[in-house]
Amino acid sequence: MTNRADVQPLKQRVQAEVDQLTPELLATSRFLHANPELAYEEHKAAERLTAVLEQHGFAVTRGVAGLPTAFTARAGSGRPRLAFLAEYDALPGLGHACGHNLIGTASLGAALAVKAILDKTPGEALVVGCPAEEKGGGKISLVESGVFAGTDAAMLVHPSNRTETVKLALGMRELTVEFFGKASHAAASPEQGINALDAVVLGYTGIGALRQQVRSDARIHGIITHGGQAPNIIPDYAAACFYVRALDLAYMDELFRRVVGCFEAAAQATGCRVKITPAGKDYHPYKPVYALAELFQHNLESLGETVDQGPVDRELGSTDVGNVSQVVPTIQPMLQISPREITCHMTAFAEAAISDAGHRGMLLAAKAMAMTAVDLLAEPATLSRVSAEFRGRPSS
Ligand SMILES: [Zn+2]
Repeated sequence: MTNRADVQPLKQRVQAEVDQLTPELLATSRFLHANPELAYEEHKAAERLTAVLEQHGFAVTRGVAGLPTAFTARAGSGRPRLAFLAEYDALPGLGHACGHNLIGTASLGAALAVKAILDKTPGEALVVGCPAEEKGGGKISLVESGVFAGTDAAMLVHPSNRTETVKLALGMRELTVEFFGKASHAAASPEQGINALDAVVLGYTGIGALRQQVRSDARIHGIITHGGQAPNIIPDYAAACFYVRALDLAYMDELFRRVVGCFEAAAQATGCRVKITPAGKDYHPYKPVYALAELFQHNLESLGETVDQGPVDRELGSTDVGNVSQVVPTIQPMLQISPREITCHMTAFAEAAISDAGHRGMLLAAKAMAMTAVDLLAEPATLSRVSAEFRGRPSS
């Protein structure tokens, strides 16, 4: 068993590895940025990342979980098994405006650096190539396929306009609702019609009333996708698409039932037939593991970076990282690469993702993740603390 005295040299070793790998990491990040690919179409990115991993001795499996652009790459053996999540999809029209070129490359760099110490300590470095973060949620399929079974911790770092080690994410379920009524002349014979648009509008306003009685973390929002063909025809078909979000799954289930209730009531009020279809797979809320986030923060600060942690429940979205966090202790710290007024999904953020600041952040992220891996690999008590918090037991 490795003792505490051995941790610092191992941390220095992984930092030196990242320094040595810097030209290769920069070239990889620039390649991904110059070749933006949309969700599930990230063939060049997956090929580039797996090629680098193979050159460095990782055992690569391409096309896991039925996703052609997903992959796993393994080095070392035994436990702990630590997963580095690589994202690499881009946004329509905006390229890498979410900085996934940096996420993928930082996780690559961390894993390559950790491999260099796996001859000194037991354990496995697992890189999981995760397609389609922006649309579809590739990690949901990866979790369902069991890729994370036997994994002790997972990490990735997201570029941001602020450095924070914990940020929650909302669970999310999508539904489509369709109402089927009866067309009729809106002036000459309205009494013959059954108005599907009225049903959508009643459902929409019902949800508006519901919102006043929901928890502050809940979000229910939607659009009307079909509202009729012409003003002089009673619409016989109308449809809407809604998202229901909350910070815990049980509450999200309850809200979903109440939203369904609003639409069923609207169907009854109008005489329409209603069809409600959950669309896509649930995004799960992010389950924080503060013990793991603190390790990362300590390592990041030791590299000279300042953490500016805000409230963990502010400005929340949803991510498929949440699904991973429900099955493995997971961190997704945010690392500042842009001024505060430039946020992700802006054109200017795509520029930040290829800037010196972006690449500085990527290298810092690789180092801090590799150092956090050292903590978990070399100190069993540290890993136990993380596992205990994840399982909901008091930390010791
Ligand atoms: Zn994004």
